[in-house]
Amino acid sequence: MTDNGSKKAHRRYSSNGSSNVGSSIEIEGTETSVFWKFVDWIVTLDTSSPTTENYSTIPQISNYVFFLGGRLRTVSGTKALSVVVFAIIVVPMVLFSIFEVHKVWTFGHGHGALIVLFYYTWAICFASLLKCATSDPGVLPRNVHVPLAHNDFEIPQEYYNIITLPGTAHNKRPVEVKYCTTCRIWRPPRASHCSTCEACIITHDHHCVWINNCVGQRNYRYFLTFLSSGVISSVLCIAVCALHLSRVSRTRDAVPAVFLIVYCVLAVCYPLLLLIFHFFVTSTQQTTREYLRNIRSRREFLRGFKSPPTNSFDTASRTRNMYTLMCQRRGFSLVSARGKHVPGDWRFLKLPHPHNFEKV
Ligand SMILES: [Zn+2]
Ligand SMILES: [Zn+2]
Repeated sequence: MTDNGSKKAHRRYSSNGSSNVGSSIEIEGTETSVFWKFVDWIVTLDTSSPTTENYSTIPQISNYVFFLGGRLRTVSGTKALSVVVFAIIVVPMVLFSIFEVHKVWTFGHGHGALIVLFYYTWAICFASLLKCATSDPGVLPRNVHVPLAHNDFEIPQEYYNIITLPGTAHNKRPVEVKYCTTCRIWRPPRASHCSTCEACIITHDHHCVWINNCVGQRNYRYFLTFLSSGVISSVLCIAVCALHLSRVSRTRDAVPAVFLIVYCVLAVCYPLLLLIFHFFVTSTQQTTREYLRNIRSRREFLRGFKSPPTNSFDTASRTRNMYTLMCQRRGFSLVSARGKHVPGDWRFLKLPHPHNFEKV
């Protein structure tokens, strides 16, 4: 695997596009190598340039793409809707800065404070979106539980069964644990495999197409911060523009203010509804994935706002349920993209696909 990676690297560094590995080594110049290494540092799509850090190897075993030397990540092979979300957030801020700030600032009577508050909440909204969309949602390491006794790392049939463990301290209800045949691990409770990211995520909430990343234990608080600060900054923008409108005699004298009010009213609906949904769903000690699993059809969406009797983690208190899910510790990144890579580390190997047993 390492040999293939280094051969690919030599081919890419070749200045004449030759596929001959040996000749490309001879003709490649120092400048070209540095340039391609820099390109690979900016965007790491595959392991064309082996480095001493994990981010160059993770794309081999998952669908993650890394930027800036493993500092940011996204998922490849999907529509980049996160770019649209960033644009939706940046556009009103730019229009607000150009057309509204200098007019409303001169009104006095504390109007400036509203503008400062808007910029403050907008900055939190932008930063939390960036953090949520580009950070580790809680990826679990692969190949931790591989049965070595069998040929070709085949999985014994009993691994397809769900194991039931004793309940938590809150309510003694049993906890189910499953084996992931892709990641070759026994998943911790509430973890789930995301087929878009090709990774198991700890306390998996859902895969969000709008941020192009999973929402899990390590970025759930950023997701909620993004929604709530987005709602507050939209309301502040509407308030400032409405104040401006109230001071002009004709509406056509404040067309950008009217546009921003309509824009923010439309833009605030989706995050507001999503935020309300997450307040309800966390109060029943469920993640979005667990909620969707518990309702049989969309007509039963209200039924899901009651904690199911089999919920092992229900604390019997809505506020405590919300606290334990919304304010849970992020924990360390278990597969650190910028951690030192040790060649041959099993956590970064793609083992042959297991044979298919009939599930029992
Ligand atoms: Zn998995
Ligand atoms: Zn995902």
